[in-house]
Amino acid sequence: MPYDGMGNYIESKADNTSDVIGFGDVGGIGQLIYHTFRFKDYEFEEGAGESSYLKPIVYKGLEPDLDKTNGFSGKELFRELYNLGRKINDFSEKTSYVDLVIEFCKGVAHPYYIDTVYSLMADKQFDIADDGEMIERESLFSLANFMRDLESFYIATQFYFALKKVCAGDGDDAFELAQEGKFFEGLPYFEKYKREECFQEHTLKKADITSQQLLDEMIAERKKSKHQEHKEVTWFAREPFDYYEELRDQLMDMIPDFHMRLKINPRNNQVVFAADVHSVFDICWYTLARMIVDFGPPEEGGRTRELKEGALITCLHCAEAFIRDNNRQLYCKKVECQRAHNAARQRKYRANKRLAETKIKNKN
Ligand SMILES: [Zn+2]
Repeated sequence: MPYDGMGNYIESKADNTSDVIGFGDVGGIGQLIYHTFRFKDYEFEEGAGESSYLKPIVYKGLEPDLDKTNGFSGKELFRELYNLGRKINDFSEKTSYVDLVIEFCKGVAHPYYIDTVYSLMADKQFDIADDGEMIERESLFSLANFMRDLESFYIATQFYFALKKVCAGDGDDAFELAQEGKFFEGLPYFEKYKREECFQEHTLKKADITSQQLLDEMIAERKKSKHQEHKEVTWFAREPFDYYEELRDQLMDMIPDFHMRLKINPRNNQVVFAADVHSVFDICWYTLARMIVDFGPPEEGGRTRELKEGALITCLHCAEAFIRDNNRQLYCKKVECQRAHNAARQRKYRANKRLAETKIKNKN
């Protein structure tokens, strides 16, 4: 909802400096000012046609929870949204997607119109008894839109993680990326490397084709090859790493544009260059964009250039996203993942020991 009824752009009214993500260290891109808040409950509302909406329930006694001093960081929201996408897309997940979305909204943040709704609620004149209904109306959002936004973000993020792993020498995720999930289509970007280079790729110059056309073509190609190829492809015919720049450009094309402009931070009267933020998706896209900017040279395994805050990666055992404490951490903190980590360490230790023993034996 960046525009009002008259078509005028609605200015961000967020002013809390504690919610600022500093961007000064990454090429001076600018800042993001936003607030997160949670409603205590939601109800389902049927709209015209087959559309359905989620509407928060707000009244005196059921006040929303405003993150006045510190809300979620961009990385934390990213982690929560990515893991939500993963759960929703998992065939073995028993909870309905609507319940999972409501759980996210109640536990993490209301997803849409966050700037306008926050400023309405933070206003001195705001009275929950009188204005509760207005807040409910202003915050209502379409479930279909949420799922569409989640799909775009989730698959772009999967692509990012897979490409990062390709740079680290692990192509497993890239190889599986085209697999369809419960709700979301898989991404076909790595599919063509499963075949030898074909004639078409030589003749098509990049400038002649938009990224959407390219994606459509790849999807059509994949459908075609599904029918034609009966023999199972077990690994890439060409190493995706050799096409790093092409893949990176495709990932970059998936990032939406941001509306950036100069704003005054009312707290200290300073001019800041900031992006307007209307949904948690904006925040997460922005965070992903920042992670791509931070992406180190591919020959160094895409290692993050500078780590002020722990990098966001996926766990080797459960594949959930988490923010790690140190550079070596590959498993999240869940008990079963730590157990898997220990088991892997012991396997490695025993293998090393056996290797050392054989070496000694062979010497004798
Ligand atoms: Zn884990």
